[in-house]
Amino acid sequence: AKKVGRNQVRFFDTRMQQQAEHRAELEFGLRRALKENEFILYYQPQYHSNQQLLGAEVLIRWQPPDQPLVSPADFIPVAETTGLIVPMGHWILRTACKQLVRWADDPETAHLTLAVNISAVQMHHHQFVDDVLSILSETGAPAHRLELELTESLLIDNIEHTIDKMLQLKQHGIRFSLDDFGTGFSSLNMLISLPLDTLKVDQAFVRDMHRDPRDLAVARTIIDLGRSLSLNVIAEGVENEQQLKSLRMLGCQCFQGYFYARPMPIDAFIEHCQLPVPL
Ligand code: C2E
Ligand code: CA
Ligand code: CA
Ligand code: CA
Repeated sequence: AKKVGRNQVRFFDTRMQQQAEHRAELEFGLRRALKENEFILYYQPQYHSNQQLLGAEVLIRWQPPDQPLVSPADFIPVAETTGLIVPMGHWILRTACKQLVRWADDPETAHLTLAVNISAVQMHHHQFVDDVLSILSETGAPAHRLELELTESLLIDNIEHTIDKMLQLKQHGIRFSLDDFGTGFSSLNMLISLPLDTLKVDQAFVRDMHRDPRDLAVARTIIDLGRSLSLNVIAEGVENEQQLKSLRMLGCQCFQGYFYARPMPIDAFIEHCQLPVPL
């Protein structure tokens, strides 16, 4: 038994070492990526009632030279633990703001909004509010076209601080949405405490709602909750027409998902949405 135990320890040692090496490699790569501009923003359209294009959610991708695209699920956690998410987040926000500026002059695009994901580490950074405000003034972006997506996990510690930061940014017109609601350690108290504009119905509930009555019940509850709190409600992960039908039946009016379009680079987004190309 002792032998097995020791082998197990060794096995875990090796695995932990491999993980540590993988992390170190990723961190090294991310530092280079920041310097060498290897990140790309993808845009996934968001629609109101099927037809009207609201704007897009901005999703980061990493394109290392001569290697396949890396998904954010693989590098955001490392960016968070290393603090690299802070400079990365600035780049994301600045790039999104510049896009809003390009759209602002043309009446055909001036109404478009961009939703940008904000990680917990970013939000809790002491300079967060100042940094966002200086990116806004530096780019001249219309603040009311910008929505920041927060996840619940971020809001657990220091909710008072979070509310304070949100209120400061809301004074400038920035909007907030709560992402992934219902998937983490959510509390209803948090939902009613935060100065939110939008509630996102997580794709986990959308996925099976047209065939599992329990998922349907949860989706209905979230949508009703959002509506009774006068929040915009948007469903993400809409992949087929049945899901769309169920969501509409429940009173959800804004949608995002593969049924409409996958996230794509800006040129493809502009073409997909048949938007005028800015000069
Ligand atoms: P999220 O914010 O919940 O983003 C939604 C994810 O669902 C995206 O994955 C999107 O591509 C995917 N998705 C959209 N429609 C569908 C659909 O119909 N079906 C399915 N199965 N999936 C769909 P992605 O782009 O791989 O991003 C994963 C996560 O990484 C995001 O989850 C977010 O938490 C994080 N992330 C992505 N971009 C950023 C960023 O710029 N900053 C930060 N802090 N986090 C980001
Ligand atoms: Ca999101
Ligand atoms: Ca989400
Ligand atoms: Ca998610």
